Amino acid sequence: MGLAIVTGGSRGIGAAISEKLAADGHDIVINCASSVEKAEAVAEKCRAYGVKAVVKQWDVSDYDVCAQALSEIKAELGVPYILVNNAGITRDGLLVRMKEEQFDAVIRTNLKGAFNMLSQCGAMMMRAKQGRIINIASVAGIAGNAGQINYSAAKAGLIGMTKTACKELGARGITVNAVAPGFIDTDMTQNLPDAIKEGAVKQIPLGRFGKPEEIAAAVAFLASDAAAYITGQTLVVDGGMI
Ligand code: NDP
Repeated sequence: MGLAIVTGGSRGIGAAISEKLAADGHDIVINCASSVEKAEAVAEKCRAYGVKAVVKQWDVSDYDVCAQALSEIKAELGVPYILVNNAGITRDGLLVRMKEEQFDAVIRTNLKGAFNMLSQCGAMMMRAKQGRIINIASVAGIAGNAGQINYSAAKAGLIGMTKTACKELGARGITVNAVAPGFIDTDMTQNLPDAIKEGAVKQIPLGRFGKPEEIAAAVAFLASDAAAYITGQTLVVDGGMI
């Protein structure tokens, strides 16, 4: 079992992924932007599985800060075997009303943040000639979603990066896949207006929002030996919505 980095592991989907990978026997680095206490609580749960779990706070949207974090991780814990690019934000608004800052913030965190980690962690994995990279995209990046022009552009970009990275890193034994969740019950969706939530549930054949653990299960599969020959794919986990 190897070392896994989960960006945005302090809450929601990232916390569930951290716990599942720990249950599968991986040491974990739990990254967060600011909720160190929440991340520590996740780390504590991970340690109960007998693995190492450390919390590291850094902003994935800053390239140099990612470089610094990765060099500390390598010195303390070794080269990561698994990278889960999960950190993400929303700044929703209709296309014609969206402010430039809203667009830039989402692209910076959700797309460039994933690039920062993918390129620099990918280089380490290439030297190690092994690795698993899983990017958390969204159905919004495949089907679009009114009110999320910034978010859907970032997630579609992330799916494109997944396919290119698969072609560039495959020869070094590294798989690169994306998981595209539908509506999942986390802080990100909790604050949506009730009307939007009710409308969303009507579009989901399984008739409910997904649980973070249901995304974690897909990520753990893609990180496992059972998925050794799967790369460049986007696994949609949305209760049948799209
Ligand atoms: P949450 O809002 O619950 O958690 C977001 C996580 O990202 C937190 O851990 C947060 O850290 C971290 N984060 C945000 N910005 C940064 C940054 N600049 N640097 C480092 N960490 C950062 O989100 P979810 O769990 O709902 O979403 C996780 C991923 O899944 C996202 O990429 C999201 O786009 C995607 N997704 C979610 C869906 C949903 O319905 N919930 C649907 C489809 C995709 P902190 O706690 O410190 O703020």
